[in-house]
Amino acid sequence: MTYIHQTITDLKRTSPSQCEFFQAVEEVLESIEPLLESVPRYKKQAIIQRMVEPERQIMFRVPWMDDNGDIQVNKGYRIEFNSALGPYKGGLRFHPSVNASIIKFLGFEQIFKNALTGLPIGGGKGGANFDPKGRSDAEIMRFCQSFMTELYRHIGPTTDVPAGDIGVGAREIGYMFGQYKRITGRYEGVLTGKSLLWGGSLARKEATGYGAVYFAKYMLEARGDSLKGKTCLVSGAGNVATYAIEKLYHLGAIPVSCSDSRGTIYHEKGIDLDLLKDIKEVRRKSLKEYIETHSDAQYISVADYPEDGHAVWRFKADAAFPCATQNELCVSDAKALLENGCTLVTEGANMPSTQEAVDTFIEAKIAFGPGKAANAGGVATSQLEMAQNASMQNWSFEQVDAKLKDIMKHVFNIANDTAAEFGQPGNLVFGANIAGFKRVAEAMIEQGAV
Ligand code: GLU
Repeated sequence: MTYIHQTITDLKRTSPSQCEFFQAVEEVLESIEPLLESVPRYKKQAIIQRMVEPERQIMFRVPWMDDNGDIQVNKGYRIEFNSALGPYKGGLRFHPSVNASIIKFLGFEQIFKNALTGLPIGGGKGGANFDPKGRSDAEIMRFCQSFMTELYRHIGPTTDVPAGDIGVGAREIGYMFGQYKRITGRYEGVLTGKSLLWGGSLARKEATGYGAVYFAKYMLEARGDSLKGKTCLVSGAGNVATYAIEKLYHLGAIPVSCSDSRGTIYHEKGIDLDLLKDIKEVRRKSLKEYIETHSDAQYISVADYPEDGHAVWRFKADAAFPCATQNELCVSDAKALLENGCTLVTEGANMPSTQEAVDTFIEAKIAFGPGKAANAGGVATSQLEMAQNASMQNWSFEQVDAKLKDIMKHVFNIANDTAAEFGQPGNLVFGANIAGFKRVAEAMIEQGAV
């Protein structure tokens, strides 16, 4: 058994049943095998054994009262995974699927993503198995207050700085910030993704989606191509998908789909962005309402679609942007995309493609941007928000957007150059894993056995 396989086997024995976490670890460790063989100090320093073990995992009870006066209980989590490069940084996810494995995989990915940005941020993640769907504003507030009543003791502007993720946007960040301030008496940059009225950064809301599209643009430029005129499938209907669609329009592409947990919209003429924002950001309703305005669009409900695969990837397009959630693009979807002529896949979500789907894209040598590189724009702009808070400044939209572009260029270059240096030109999965790992590993060695 190789050294890497032994490490994975040990992990499966000591952290049983954490499938998503194993998936994320296997992908990274398999990429770095050549590096481990050539740099003996990584083994001597037990770098990978230290890296797969979170510095700290916090699990807590979140009790709250619903509108009927009944008490509900959820599980809350914060994983402080690695602080070699800076304070723990990463979002909070509120979704019924959240469990220890999901939070751990997200925290693990976050370490390398944050490292790739070149910024001084470590990796962390958190959340709760709370389902915000159908909950009143008052229920959301009570839940957020209860969640922060435990979380506040673990976080701080120079220790751990949470942000949003699925189910956590500016409204939830507002309620959590209010509670943090009330308990601690401190007004400080302890959360990012804040409202523009009180400490948020311009362009933070747009950053993950815009960043993913900038990344796609740089991948295509390196291949002598551009996004102009390209038909693009996008999944998701949250922050990432919405602003990926917006930026695709800015760059002359035609985004033709979006999706939510209940179904997919395909609109050949191009997605009506104002309507999408109105349904999701203002009315917080199902995407099904889209066809009430556009009868020429198609709606395919999840219930009507066979188990194996996802409707959104079965349409003809030049490019695909999975921007919804983990494992939303499986190998049969990957094959369907390739058969339909797709030559670019950029992951706006975290680990949206299964390992087999990723292997299919890499084998086909299409332009493939893995999430930990392509969606780094969100967390990078969170760090810009931290910098503005710490210096008591507000930068303009143009300033932040220009920095975001530079950071995405840096992420692309470092992944692309590293892939070439280690003999797999164009393989950005490999390049991103090695480049991210190297930065964290070297910092850990310099800081000693901690
Ligand atoms: N949740 C986002 C991510 O997956 C953003 C994290 C942050 O801004 O800290 O990277």
